[in-house]
Amino acid sequence: MGGHSSHHLSKIPDLEEIRRETGFTPSSIKRLHHRFQALDKEGKGYLRDAIDFPTFIRILAHFRPIEEDKSKEPCLDPEPINSRNNKLKFAFQLYDQDRDGKISRPELMEVLRMMVGVQVTNEQLESITDRTIQEADLDGDNAISFQEFKQSLEKMSIEQKMSIRFLK
Ligand code: CA
Ligand code: CA
Repeated sequence: MGGHSSHHLSKIPDLEEIRRETGFTPSSIKRLHHRFQALDKEGKGYLRDAIDFPTFIRILAHFRPIEEDKSKEPCLDPEPINSRNNKLKFAFQLYDQDRDGKISRPELMEVLRMMVGVQVTNEQLESITDRTIQEADLDGDNAISFQEFKQSLEKMSIEQKMSIRFLK
C-alpha cells in the first residue's frame, strides 16, 4: 500500500462493495477516505491493529442514519451477510479488542477517537464515551455487552447524534 496523497475514488479498495454494504454515497466515501488518510499518517494503508480503509468505513457505517422503513424491517429469515445483525456483530468485535464479550470504557474510547479523529479534544472524547456508556449500559457494569450494544443502536439516539455531528 503505497501512495498517500491520492483522493481518487478509483484508488479506494473494494469501493463498489463498500458502497453496497454501507450505503454511503461516493462523495461521503471520498470524504471519509480523506479522513482515513489523515489518521493514517505514515501512509501504511491501515490504522492501529490493521484497520484498513474498508474496515474503517464499515465501522463508520454503523453511525449512518438509517432510513425509516429499513430500520423497522423485521429479521429476515436467511440472514444476508450484510444484515443489520451481522454488521453489528462485526462492529462489536472491532470494538471488543480483548474479546471478552464486552466493550470496556477504554475500548470504546479508542474506537471513538479513531472515528472522530482530530475534531475533538480529549475532554470531549471522554464525555462522549461516558455518555455513550451511560446510554447503553443497562446492567451497570460500566461496559457494553453485545445485547446492550444492539439495543442502544436500536434506540438510534447515539447513532443519530454521531451521524449529524461527524458524517454530514
Ligand atoms: Ca472487551
Ligand atoms: Ca453492561
